[in-house]
Amino acid sequence: MSGIQVLRGQKVQFKNPLKDVHIAILPIAGCAWIDTTEGFVVIDTLISRGAAKKAREQIKDKIKYIIYTHGHMDHVMGASEFMDEGTEVIASKYLPDRLDRYKMLASHRAHISAVQFNIPEVVIPMEFVYPTKTFLGNMTIKLGDKTFELHTARAETDDVCWVYVPELNVAFIGDLIVGRTFPNIGNPWKPTRFALDWAKALEEVRTINPEYIFCNGAAVMFKGEEAREALDANIEVIRNLHDQVVDFINEGMHITEMIHKVKIPDHLKDSPYLRPSYSRLEFFAFNVYRWYHGYFDDNPAHLLPRPEKEVMGEIFNLIGDSDKILNRAKELLKQDQAQLALEVLNVLIQADSEIIEARKLRIELLKNLAAEDYCLMSRNAWVYYINKDKEFINSKSKKDE
Ligand SMILES: [Zn+2]
Repeated sequence: MSGIQVLRGQKVQFKNPLKDVHIAILPIAGCAWIDTTEGFVVIDTLISRGAAKKAREQIKDKIKYIIYTHGHMDHVMGASEFMDEGTEVIASKYLPDRLDRYKMLASHRAHISAVQFNIPEVVIPMEFVYPTKTFLGNMTIKLGDKTFELHTARAETDDVCWVYVPELNVAFIGDLIVGRTFPNIGNPWKPTRFALDWAKALEEVRTINPEYIFCNGAAVMFKGEEAREALDANIEVIRNLHDQVVDFINEGMHITEMIHKVKIPDHLKDSPYLRPSYSRLEFFAFNVYRWYHGYFDDNPAHLLPRPEKEVMGEIFNLIGDSDKILNRAKELLKQDQAQLALEVLNVLIQADSEIIEARKLRIELLKNLAAEDYCLMSRNAWVYYINKDKEFINSKSKKDE
């Protein structure tokens, strides 16, 4: 995951789940440090310097290596607190490019984080510790009595590096799994994830058959049979859904139909390892589609489209009556069709965004969509736009006073 600010002010918890393995836990981030006879190896660095400082205070010896499992902010932002003299920072070859992109797109990213996490829109300083050594493929580090086998992959990001420590029979897999949740393969705000390569990376982990898996940074641990079940469930659901989308693309199905047709196999629907609490099936389908498919949807009207506002303005002028649109949207809401109602109402809001009654009705529709939505990302989005409409209505009523 990549949340900024989300965890500010959250208390860091510390655990020592295995001999020589220590972890720091925040609600959606974590890091680990492994004790060797020649110093410590830190895997991931938490989301902020404040949280990382508390973790650093727990580490009594020198830190020789920091390994980034990937470049998401909740894995790299605390790194400066873990730097000792000569500490090597190891990452995928593609990780520095990611950090550069975060700087380049700081304003845009502040906005999308505000929607995705429903937090204030603040551009935070992008200060990173860049890797001192990068690589692609496999690399082994020996330190004292431990070996660290590093493997790069493309999965949630293009810069994944997961780690196996044979002496402990432990794999640190970053966000290849984020807990007991449906894999975070689709994110409406972010570039595409790598579904098929993600499954292959998990299959490599499964081949090693580690007794312990640390994931979500290192905040979550699976042991023994649970580790194997979590891997099996994630691999199967990714491969199955990926293949469904590929088949639908080959059939020429439109993406707006596809997201409603793709289905989780029955025997995985209630899997305790795949709860749709963070991402969701439709986001997964969009994501695989975007990876393999261009923007054009086989409709010539959409090859070089006019701005949406202009098109909706034309349609609205043909309808000629805002009440017709408002009433139809209300009818659809009564028929439990809030999404369709939202799209009908969109004709009016795009044609004229200042109609208070339309904005009030949109709040109703978004509340309806949010009420039974357990996916954190879509629920936050509905609430974000409810608040935007409320702000707009309040600002109008103040002007009228
Ligand atoms: Zn991540």
